[in-house]
Amino acid sequence: MLTNKNFKCDRYCGKCCMNLTIMVDNSDVNKIKKLGYNINDFIEMDLIDENKFILRKKDNGHCIFLKKNKRIYSCNIHKNRPKICQKYPFFSKKPIKSCYPEDMFPNAMFSFKAGRNNQ
Ligand code: SF4
Ligand code: SF4
Repeated sequence: MLTNKNFKCDRYCGKCCMNLTIMVDNSDVNKIKKLGYNINDFIEMDLIDENKFILRKKDNGHCIFLKKNKRIYSCNIHKNRPKICQKYPFFSKKPIKSCYPEDMFPNAMFSFKAGRNNQ
């Protein structure tokens, strides 16, 4: 089992950046704006809750900041990524079996299978 003590993210896998909805708050948005991004280019209103904002997605469902170089994925704003991305995959102290989104949220629908770069 994985805990926040023994877990090491394979930053170049990117699975959690491909289909999840990333909520952002004002401090996340301000941090990203300071990098030079235009707010309209990276956030949009959450359709489920109009009081909340989420990161935009590309047409393929990937986070707007997910970058692909050959078969390697990385985050364009890694050091300044939103708090929810920094917390993932530990939202409580409970150990987890896997950090892949389909294991974290088994009732959600995902269009990919677990495993590195196999989409
Ligand atoms: S799915 Fe897991 S290993 Fe891959 S980027 Fe996300 S946290 Fe890291
Ligand atoms: S901001 Fe970065 S870490 Fe967060 S979902 Fe997007 S690409 Fe992944």
